[in-house]
Amino acid sequence: MKITEIFNNKQRTIYSFEVFPPKKTSPIESIYSKLEEICALKPDFISVTYGAGGTVGHSRTCEIASKIKHSFGVESVAHLTCVNSTKSDIDSNLDDLKAHGIENILALRGDYVEGVEPKKEFKYAGDLCAYIKAHGDFDIGGACYPEVHAEARDEVDDVLNLKKKVDSGAEHLISQLFFDNSAFYRFLERTKIAGINVPIEAGIMPVTNKSQIERMTSMCGASLPAKFSKIMQKYENKPEALRDAGIAYAVEQIVDLIANGVDGIHLYTMNNPYVARKITDAVGNLL
Ligand code: FAD
Repeated sequence: MKITEIFNNKQRTIYSFEVFPPKKTSPIESIYSKLEEICALKPDFISVTYGAGGTVGHSRTCEIASKIKHSFGVESVAHLTCVNSTKSDIDSNLDDLKAHGIENILALRGDYVEGVEPKKEFKYAGDLCAYIKAHGDFDIGGACYPEVHAEARDEVDDVLNLKKKVDSGAEHLISQLFFDNSAFYRFLERTKIAGINVPIEAGIMPVTNKSQIERMTSMCGASLPAKFSKIMQKYENKPEALRDAGIAYAVEQIVDLIANGVDGIHLYTMNNPYVARKITDAVGNLL
């Protein structure tokens, strides 16, 4: 089923997950048992990431998206990046997705990778959206940035670029993770002013271990509210307490987002069935 149909048919908040393929050095089957547990939570759909700069490759994304849909009965979305791809690479990816019965794509530009010369045939994700729209019957989603994409001139420039992406074919949007809901609400106001009328899901990342904290503070660009930083500092060396505090923080964010009528919650599961289950148990009745 197309994700747009899921949005159109549901009278409640959409609830979806993100998973990522295992590294090339691990067999693909190594995540199947975790996937099965995650799928058993019955989210509306699960999206599967595409390795940055093609490090993991399209085939694993496609294979896992297919497994989620056909073996575990949950609708799936394959992420697809374009900055390091030619049109012919994208053609073969689209053929592959079609052959596997995948109907939904999250169309991304992808990040520039040091030492890899970008291919230049696609400059922005919007170019990929337009190309996919012209070359197949796929539902197309896109990414958005409540706290502004790192390369954008400012928040106005970024939201106007987002409008171009939607006009090029993105039918719904999934946000970058954030820890401060008010940043997301201000972003929603900007999208309304810009005339963006597609559903926008809020990306929520439960921070449940120390290495995640370090990654969050060094690279994701999300602002860290004092309340969040205090919790992380207090429990950074107590793994179980940190896990539980991270889950509690994410649940609090989600409850507030649902109460404020967001279109959807997209949970970055980090392939962790325990965390996904705890959060789903806590918010399932609220959707
Ligand atoms: P774009 O929408 O092209 O935006 C990139 C920059 O260009 C922005 O600053 C924007 O303002 C500007 N821009 C856009 N269109 C125009 C235009 N027409 N004219 C001028 N400027 C423009 N990366 C991966 O490698 N694999 C993944 O699986 C993956 N999944 C992701 C999922 C989500 C939900 C999110 C939020 C990000 C994901 N990323 C992934 C990261 C993403 O690839 C990077 O953030 C990348 O830097 C931007 O990709 P984009 O699709 O948002 O780009």
